[in-house]
Amino acid sequence: MTINKILVANRGEIALRVMRTAREMGIKTVAIFSEADRNALHVRYADEAVCVGPAPSSESYLRGDAIIEVCRRLGVDAIHPGYGFLSENANFARQVREAGLLFIGPSPESIEVMGSKLAAKAAVADYDIPMVPGTPSAITDRAEAKLISAKIGYPILIKASAGGGGKGMRVVESDADFDEQMDRAVSEAISSFGDGSVFIEKYVTSPRHVEIQVLGDQHGNIIHLFERECSVQRRHQKVVEEAPSAILTPEIREAMGQAAVGVARACNYYGAGTVEFIVDANLNFYFLEMNTRLQVEHPVTELITGVDLVEQMIYIAEGKPLTIKQEDLQIKGHAVEIRVYAEDPANNFLPDVGTLDTYVRPQGNGVRVDDGFEQGMAIPIYYDPMIAKLITYGDDRAAAIQKMIRAIDEYQISGVQTTLGFCRFVMNHDAFRSGQFDTGFVSKYFTADVLDTKPDAEETELAAVFAAYLLDKQAAKPSQTQTVGPARPKSQWRTKRLG
Ligand code: ADP
Ligand code: ADP
Ligand code: MG
Repeated sequence: MTINKILVANRGEIALRVMRTAREMGIKTVAIFSEADRNALHVRYADEAVCVGPAPSSESYLRGDAIIEVCRRLGVDAIHPGYGFLSENANFARQVREAGLLFIGPSPESIEVMGSKLAAKAAVADYDIPMVPGTPSAITDRAEAKLISAKIGYPILIKASAGGGGKGMRVVESDADFDEQMDRAVSEAISSFGDGSVFIEKYVTSPRHVEIQVLGDQHGNIIHLFERECSVQRRHQKVVEEAPSAILTPEIREAMGQAAVGVARACNYYGAGTVEFIVDANLNFYFLEMNTRLQVEHPVTELITGVDLVEQMIYIAEGKPLTIKQEDLQIKGHAVEIRVYAEDPANNFLPDVGTLDTYVRPQGNGVRVDDGFEQGMAIPIYYDPMIAKLITYGDDRAAAIQKMIRAIDEYQISGVQTTLGFCRFVMNHDAFRSGQFDTGFVSKYFTADVLDTKPDAEETELAAVFAAYLLDKQAAKPSQTQTVGPARPKSQWRTKRLG
């Protein structure tokens, strides 16, 4: 089946990212939005846009029924879910299928299996995939769980089977802490995921997070597109990512690629997916989980392989066989991504929403910015506080890092605190530059006082003058709508309220 019109069931940078590829392919795009996102860039970029409800996600971006109804009304062929929201919701994928629409992603069955970390481990058991020592099923008996933990050896990790986004995970240092951490893990699992099942994994010391991008079609072909390293994390969540990893040898890369393809095969995977591994200090790797969607950090893979992952996802959803063969792929150059969050690194990375008084993107050779904001816009409190992804590409790792430092210096944001200064600190740090770091980077090296929080007086004054100038310029424009996106005089853009 050929897709002529796609609805993107998401917002912000990822909605724009998907629509750009759709437009390149000559496919019409439909945006959905909440009342908080009326003026958002993804709404203005799409050919058509429909409001699906009030600001809270549960009343808008998560309303699968309303979204499918929009598809029916506007003659949409396929839904791209982006990441977060409904992207890993098997029931939604099933409803989309039942409504006669294509879901640009894997089958509901694959999503279901991989949505549970325990079910995922069980599914790959026959595929010779290395796994962290731990309990193979949910803990029901605490006394027994403590015995197992002692046998595995502390520290251990209690994890929510339904977990995601770094939530529902507790490190236990010793037997004495077990009960307290267990209680916390279970209550966090219930409140965040509505499922209190938790299990135990050995806590890998000096762990590095290395994941493999896979693509599978509906004819049983599965390939991998090498790795991304995402070891710089806060709260078990990624902030800096790169491809390739600074530490993998060609042999380990090949072995991890094979393992990832095995995991995908175990759940008859098609679409784009990511198999996450943890790598220890001796370069042993262990399967963590599979994310059955496009990943936030997918651009670094696109830059080193030259493959547009969204384009591939669309072809796969149409039922086309993969035209890329494993042996066609090779790594060219190096890419680094930083996530620019509206967060205050000096205050434990707490979200800091507000208005982007100054917002000037970096530009130039080797720089890609995927964002969903422009100057003067407010960052809504309802959603993920990510402002942008800044990605740089160079011939080698050192060149990509140098470009990143230059791009960070060019990036001008005022009105909210951001992770930019923190990311500059990472790029300049010897541990990062040498490649000798792990997921403990932030706790080991970062304190608020390393941030250059006080720019000198002259700089502050200049920034203020520049901001005032830009605001003046903006106020003088007749309509904001005309400032965004490529010129499309005949655009069919219109806004509708769902009735
Ligand atoms: P990635 O693995 O692509 O880096 P993240 O783990 O940062 O992705 O998550 C991507 C987005 O999806 C974030 O907005 C995060 O909050 C959300 N997310 C991830 N897993 C879940 C989940 N199980 N439930 C709800 N939201 C989730
Ligand atoms: P989520 O679904 O929240 O992304 P993951 O299982 O992918 O959960 O783990 C998220 C992060 O937590 C990993 O990137 C890693 O930093 C850390 N982590 C997970 N499992 C382990 C482990 N067994 N040992 C050490 N660190 C771990
Ligand atoms: Mg993960």
